[in-house]
Amino acid sequence: MPELPEVETTLRGIAPHVTGRTILECLFRTAKLRWPLDPELCHLLPGQRITRLERRAKYLLLFCDRGTIILHLGMSGSLRIVPAGTTEQKHDHVDLIFTDGQSLRLTDPRKFGAFIYTDSDPYRHKLLCHLGPEPLTDAFNGEYLYTLSRDRKLTVKQFIMEQKTVVGVGNIYASESLFHAGIRPDRAAGRVGLKRYVALVAAIKKILLRAIAAGGTTINDFSQADGKPGYFSQQLKVYGRCGEPCPACGEPVHSQRLGQRSTFFCPRCQI
Ligand SMILES: [Zn+2]
Repeated sequence: MPELPEVETTLRGIAPHVTGRTILECLFRTAKLRWPLDPELCHLLPGQRITRLERRAKYLLLFCDRGTIILHLGMSGSLRIVPAGTTEQKHDHVDLIFTDGQSLRLTDPRKFGAFIYTDSDPYRHKLLCHLGPEPLTDAFNGEYLYTLSRDRKLTVKQFIMEQKTVVGVGNIYASESLFHAGIRPDRAAGRVGLKRYVALVAAIKKILLRAIAAGGTTINDFSQADGKPGYFSQQLKVYGRCGEPCPACGEPVHSQRLGQRSTFFCPRCQI
């Protein structure tokens, strides 16, 4: 599943090709992704210029003259820039064709992505208005997590994966950052102290930034969003490594299910 670093990498990859371009045509090749594709957009979008791109959580916001396209890659979506008229493959569901002869193509085999439009403030849209802070901003810090977690009996891993706590800490990044911070993933969120939350926030930021930087090195093919940790997998310390020696102490890495998600940790280094 594309995680925040892949979405950020996608944004950086497509932004230079999309910003300032005028939409000539909006082409849908399927009736619905996660939600129905509104055929009205094929009339509303042509003629509008894309003024800027932003990311909020895993949503890409394409600000146009009169509204905003809200795009989500779902479980398996990816975006590419192709010359207009490039023969479509089976899962190429949406093309935004620009007047400069290029087009932005959304490919989504599992059709869990989203392509919707709003003419109001996108940050107040029902999909976005309840989201927690961005992980790479100052608003996300140790004091914030500590205060929010008091009396919470939920495991700390599930707590940091909740979108209303902080956005964009997916399953892989949650396991990895808890390892770096030395916190057992099944510890109750309310039983983690301030100093440990400060360390956890630092680990989350470091790991996300490293993943974004790794994506940036292969930015040209815009294909990171392929449903795998991909380029970042060599750097994973515990995720997917059940039974292998912990890179810090040699103890075999354990695996358990928390909230139906596979979780990896070292029972010696993480307490
Ligand atoms: Zn260890």
